[in-house]
Amino acid sequence: MATVLVLIDQPGEGLHKSHRELLTIASGLGGAAVAFLGDLNEAVAQELGARGVRTIYRPSSADVGEFLVAGKAAFLAATVRASSPSAVLLGNSFEAKEIAARAGVQLTSGVITDAVAIGEDFSVTKSVLAGSYAVEAKVITGTPLITVKANTVDVAPAGDGGAPEVVTVDSAMPARAARITGRTAKAASGRPELTEARVIVAGGRGVDGDFTPVEELADALGGAVGASRAATDAGWIEHSAQIGQTGKTVSPQLYISAGISGAIQQKAGMQTAKVIIAVNKDADSPVFEIADFGVVGDLFKVLPQATAEIIKRRS
Ligand code: FAD
Repeated sequence: MATVLVLIDQPGEGLHKSHRELLTIASGLGGAAVAFLGDLNEAVAQELGARGVRTIYRPSSADVGEFLVAGKAAFLAATVRASSPSAVLLGNSFEAKEIAARAGVQLTSGVITDAVAIGEDFSVTKSVLAGSYAVEAKVITGTPLITVKANTVDVAPAGDGGAPEVVTVDSAMPARAARITGRTAKAASGRPELTEARVIVAGGRGVDGDFTPVEELADALGGAVGASRAATDAGWIEHSAQIGQTGKTVSPQLYISAGISGAIQQKAGMQTAKVIIAVNKDADSPVFEIADFGVVGDLFKVLPQATAEIIKRRS
């Protein structure tokens, strides 16, 4: 039976939704093992077991996670050599892509990024050209290393599997890799992480400095708040909220774009959203070319009405 290795990097107190998605895919393809970096607490180990993970590989040196990608890639490559999985799954962050690339070089293995579906034979559907096209790709050399976009599968319910076996893997420490000297936890906003969110409400220059209607709609839907570069450059919201070519790439089930014109650089980060709703007062705005539903109107009137209706129906 195929064993698929999932890289779980610094989950903190508990697994993230994106980790659960990767484990769901791995279990569906055969069985899951985990290459784990960070503190492995009891709750995380138990959940990994409940999600069908049979083996957890950990680095022999706790220091590996304290280096930037070089140490992590060396550990991942060593784990692949030690366990011979059928494939390796990683998240789709910039860091995960770089870990995959470096491990791929060390293993002489092919890497596929931006996967949105993986077949039983490890053929991969990936989105390209800013989500304009989907292509089929397959690694033909070595062990496939595949980075998977968030929200590509629904998380399967956890079972009642036993505690996984923990195996230590020796990996060479890169001599001159940059060391992480400190970590500061991001202030909790109570909202989901942008790249993992199933629902995103994003605001652009049209909010004119006031993100309140965007935030209120996001909260009514349990979603995350995103922004165009015009809004982040204006200082109306933090840069980490920027979506697009030079911001984050997101793939939610629902993306509500408010007061955003839909420039190509913005589309590059959100075009693979399953459903796109655009609210813009200019009917000729390019965002309507990719929207599944469009509302021509003032966001300061449309968004509060939507929020009020959602709250009313939920109460
Ligand atoms: P605008 O283009 O000014 O559009 C504002 C929209 O709001 C208009 O369509 C207007 O009709 C509408 N509007 C105004 N008032 C209201 C209202 N009351 N109600 C409803 N609608 C209203 N951009 C990104 O977003 N992400 C990126 O990662 C990114 N990377 C870039 C990289 C490069 C190299 C370059 C050159 C540009 C990049 N940009 C990026 C910038 C991009 O080209 C656009 O300038 C930017 O996306 C425009 O932001 P916007 O749509 O919010 O503003």
